[in-house]
Amino acid sequence: MHELSIATSIVEIACRHAAGRRVTRVQLKVGYLRQVVPSALTFSFELVADGTSAQGASLDIEAVPASGICLQCGAQSALDAFPLQCSACGGFLLRIVAGEELIVESLELEEQEIGTHSG
Ligand SMILES: [Zn+2]
Repeated sequence: MHELSIATSIVEIACRHAAGRRVTRVQLKVGYLRQVVPSALTFSFELVADGTSAQGASLDIEAVPASGICLQCGAQSALDAFPLQCSACGGFLLRIVAGEELIVESLELEEQEIGTHSG
């Protein structure tokens, strides 16, 4: 389940940027070729975030469609199924131009720092 390792990276990135503040929302861009299952990623994120600054943060996952440029005919195709194939000539040699993203697009943080006591 590779969603767990992705979730771990997201939480690490979020906590580093938060620098002690509480993370309320994480916006993520995930390319189609990453083959991430959003529900599994959300579940993993909640698991990993537990006890960190990102605990309770909501995770927004934006799917990025894949596309590639054919090395044989130069056409650009949307790649929405496997195997990845040029829609113009049927070639399999493609330069991927989108769909491999895995980016923390933005973070929303709470204004005040987390104190040593809460409530
Ligand atoms: Zn082609």
